[in-house]
Amino acid sequence: MNESSDVLIVGAGPAGLALAAALGDAGLRCIVLEQQSRAAIDDPAEDGREIALTHRARRTMEQLGLWSAIDAAAVAPLREARVLDGDAPQSLRFAARSTADHDDDALGWLVPNHLIRRAALAAALRRPTTQLVCDARVTALERADKRATLTLADGRQWHAPLVIAADSRFSGTRRLAGIGASMKDFGRSVVVGRVAHERPNEGIAWECFRYGNTLALLPMNGDQVSAVVTLASHGAPEWLALPDEEFARRIESQSGGRLGVMRAVGPRHHYPLVAVYAERFVAPRFALIGDAAVGMHPVTAHGYNFGLYGVEVLARELQAVHARSGDIGALPPLLTYEREHRRVTLPIYLGTNALVSLFTDERGPAKLARQAVLRVAEHAPGLSTLIKAAVTRQLTGGVRASGAPGTPGALGAPSR
Ligand SMILES: Cc1cc2nc3c(=O)[nH]c(=O)nc-3n(C[C@H](O)[C@H](O)[C@H](O)COP(=O)(O)OP(=O)(O)OC[C@H]3O[C@@H](n4cnc5c(N)ncnc54)[C@H](O)[C@@H]3O)c2cc1C
Repeated sequence: MNESSDVLIVGAGPAGLALAAALGDAGLRCIVLEQQSRAAIDDPAEDGREIALTHRARRTMEQLGLWSAIDAAAVAPLREARVLDGDAPQSLRFAARSTADHDDDALGWLVPNHLIRRAALAAALRRPTTQLVCDARVTALERADKRATLTLADGRQWHAPLVIAADSRFSGTRRLAGIGASMKDFGRSVVVGRVAHERPNEGIAWECFRYGNTLALLPMNGDQVSAVVTLASHGAPEWLALPDEEFARRIESQSGGRLGVMRAVGPRHHYPLVAVYAERFVAPRFALIGDAAVGMHPVTAHGYNFGLYGVEVLARELQAVHARSGDIGALPPLLTYEREHRRVTLPIYLGTNALVSLFTDERGPAKLARQAVLRVAEHAPGLSTLIKAAVTRQLTGGVRASGAPGTPGALGAPSR
């Protein structure tokens, strides 16, 4: 049996590591158990994910020291988002400038996922309270009255008053804790790849709901966009195997030549689209965080933003228990975290899944419905303002990048 800590975290992904940093600030010792090698965690490979971060997520990252560990040149401001349906002329526009509740001209920021992972590692290890154990695959969990015990594939064991699983949307530790999850397999995949382009992207993201596939263009610095193609999973191998010239040509043509001539840059990556929502987020001596609790469809860009929000709430609750020398594995404070995180995430999880169904259904009535949604939203001033304000508030969290929390807080949550 290995030396104990206050908390055992399974998974050194961006959620688990951000949590270790936050708990370190609360004076709690964390051991992070990660199945990958130390070399892979120290130098995470580029994975094609460009993560759109809200103002609130940025503020959390600043507080934990993640933001300053990211090269500013790799952070791309998202100034406006436009949604198009097929070849229909109308588009729905979301621009930061159109809101009255903040004065920053960015809706959010796009940051490559591997740089977030690296920054989260640096922030976690800067705290002397964090210990990282790599080549450590968790295969068993036992929970008793006073402590929980994790067993690794090689037989080593660790114990602590509380275990937190941050081991991805397909969390094995969640299953070991006897917690089920509802999963929605969209039967679709995303293929992502960067392309360089001729005309400036002006920080505008495009979401084009084409018939057959969906194309999102996410603006990067240096006249590049990340092209995100969503299509039926059986079509993904063909898109992955395309010669660079043909990939760029298809993106150029599907985006209506808006950004001029395109050229593929770097490798392409592929992700099957499965959304996951855990039935419970906590149990005695156990909690779920990050994608292990809520694994979002990426179209509304909430996954890691929710992960950071969960970190914020859970750390706040555990800090309060620790400050009064209470039992951090006891259920009541964990239940407070669960209630708050569920209240904030569940409506958006369900709404995102409904939106995806509407915008990927190629039957006539669905096409008409979404064209109507876009037309009405863009031209009925009252509705348009409401929808845009809600979406923009989601992105900005109603806070200034460096300011105090507004009301409501990020991702629709009231700030405390
Ligand atoms: C294409 C795409 C685009 C996205 N875009 C956005 C976006 O714009 N905005 C946004 O907010 N989010 C976005 N996301 C979501 C975001 O990437 C995730 O929410 C985030 O990476 C999840 O982090 P995590 O730490 O919870 O899990 P992960 O990153 O999956 O990390 C889990 C870790 O646990 C380890 N592990 C697993 N099992 C074990 C075990 N048994 N023992 C020990 N270790 C284990 C794994 O090796 C891994 O290191 C996107 C996702 C995708 C796929």
